Amino acid sequence: MTDSSRELTTAAEELCRVAHKVAARGWVPATSGNFSVRNIATGHVLVTASGLDKSQLTPAGLLEVAFDASGSGDFSVLAGNGKPSAETRVHGVLYDAFPQAGAIVHGHSIWNTLLSNRLVHDGAVTLTGYELLKALSGVTTHQHIERIPVVENSQDYAKLSREVARAVAANPETHGVLLAGHGLYTWGQSAAEAWRHMEALEFLFECEVRRIASGW
Ligand SMILES: [Zn+2]
Repeated sequence: MTDSSRELTTAAEELCRVAHKVAARGWVPATSGNFSVRNIATGHVLVTASGLDKSQLTPAGLLEVAFDASGSGDFSVLAGNGKPSAETRVHGVLYDAFPQAGAIVHGHSIWNTLLSNRLVHDGAVTLTGYELLKALSGVTTHQHIERIPVVENSQDYAKLSREVARAVAANPETHGVLLAGHGLYTWGQSAAEAWRHMEALEFLFECEVRRIASGW
């Protein structure tokens, strides 16, 4: 085993532990959601195959894929069993947009589903004034303004991926992107950092939905 494949194996195990935590929070119901890690040296990505219960995820449930250089999210499967998720190409465009990202997590929570539907016509969720914003990498104050773009959902994943690429290009400082009525993508240098971002953002989304719903 080479150093880079050993590194990817360790990252895969860490990603599975994160998937179990996300599942325990109820953010990937009914086999939804997907997770990936990237080997920065080779550019190869391990990504969850479609239709798996994430509470039981093991490295055997990951496919190794290579994204083409076009930035479109097109990919080929290099190894692994199972069917790639249609959402794999969204991971590709996000890795392209954020060269430092080593992991991406995607979940369908109640709070991100409600909030993204509510604010899709604004084009973004804006978060400010919350201490937990400091859990986002590079953020040092609750006064930070986090603008998370919201993209219309679509079952045309080529189109959806182009919209995600456009949205993050317009919001290069964002730590996530929302698909309306669907879910959150967030990322980090490692699976642990991506998990921290997800946990913080989901907390903040719940705050926002409760605030809006109560008329504050
Ligand atoms: Zn999804």
